[in-house]
Amino acid sequence: MADRYRLGDVVEFRKQHPCGNKQWEVMRTGADFRVKCLGCGHQVMMPRPRFEKSVKRIIKPFLSTDPADDAK
Ligand SMILES: [Zn+2]
Repeated sequence: MADRYRLGDVVEFRKQHPCGNKQWEVMRTGADFRVKCLGCGHQVMMPRPRFEKSVKRIIKPFLSTDPADDAK
């Protein structure tokens, strides 16, 4: 099953970071996600369920037509 979130994706969270930014870049996917705040560069790790609840929308979906990428 293809993962909805890819490395390099930018997502918007429902809550904004204290720096005022709501956009985060996905740095790592899996059971735990690591994301980087695009406002201040702060990185946080969180369990996948919490990440998915926090996401409001994907701003820059990773566009790939190569099916082999989905196997990773
Ligand atoms: Zn921030």
